Amino acid sequence: MACELTRDKAFFAFSPDTEPVVRVAQGEELLLTTHDCFSGQLKTTADTLETLDWSITNPATGPVYIEGTKPGDLLRIDLHEVKATGPSVMVAVPQVGALGDFITEEETVIVEHRGETVVFKDKVVVKQNPMLGVIGVAPAEGVIPNSTPGIHGGNMDCTLVTSGSSLYLTVGVEGALFGCGDMHAVMGDGEVVICGAETPGEVRLTPQVVAIPGLPTPFIENDEIVAVIGSAETVDAAYKIVLGMMHEFLTKVAGLPNNDAALLMSLVGNLKFCQVVDPLMTVRFEFPKSVLADYGYVLPR
Ligand code: CA
Ligand code: ZN
Repeated sequence: MACELTRDKAFFAFSPDTEPVVRVAQGEELLLTTHDCFSGQLKTTADTLETLDWSITNPATGPVYIEGTKPGDLLRIDLHEVKATGPSVMVAVPQVGALGDFITEEETVIVEHRGETVVFKDKVVVKQNPMLGVIGVAPAEGVIPNSTPGIHGGNMDCTLVTSGSSLYLTVGVEGALFGCGDMHAVMGDGEVVICGAETPGEVRLTPQVVAIPGLPTPFIENDEIVAVIGSAETVDAAYKIVLGMMHEFLTKVAGLPNNDAALLMSLVGNLKFCQVVDPLMTVRFEFPKSVLADYGYVLPR
């Protein structure tokens, strides 16, 4: 029996003190719907950020209390399906985002969905890769707005957070208080203008506590790769975080020799941007699972 949760049950900051709206057992499937990052306020090209109610931006559906989770637990979220229901919206705004200096006129673009694609201004057809920008658990203490990424997850805007991947987070409080939202039908690494194709959507996932001692989080895997995700005030600081996390994973968890880990990170690992437009910058480091297998290591399921 799947547990269902609709997008009207949303929160705007990850906090230990927010009351959960639903409880699920570990291993139970959770079906939830999500708003776009503007809570659906931008419906036509005439709707702009000037009239936007900023207090309801970046909603995450939840919080979800996951039975039997306690601080320090490693929580694996299996994303069975991330489905964009559309239509999507994009905005370009002067002085906003990493391209703000180049934008002179504000514009809102409605991006239609057609099958497995989105269509930009009736001209450009782009294959969808529906992904969740915001996904996380409550921190042990403090209140983190959904606009901000961190070790709890949050607004990481990582294109790997999509159907078929598993995200690992460290639980901060009893029950985890999980939530997700800010779906993009598709987004380029960097999210440079400040948005992807911002869309409402449907998500099917299963949460489960697992034991992989020493796994650095946030950590994500799909069929091909594992990756660690890190956020900091600058991309320089963020990339140092993910290099350290991946080297630690490879040596302490997967058992690679120290120099092999470093050399292979340089040979077949990829350092990539997630986003450079949120209050903290987010990058990730990807490493192929096939190389872990060469060293006899398989992530336990
Ligand atoms: Ca985002
Ligand atoms: Zn977004």
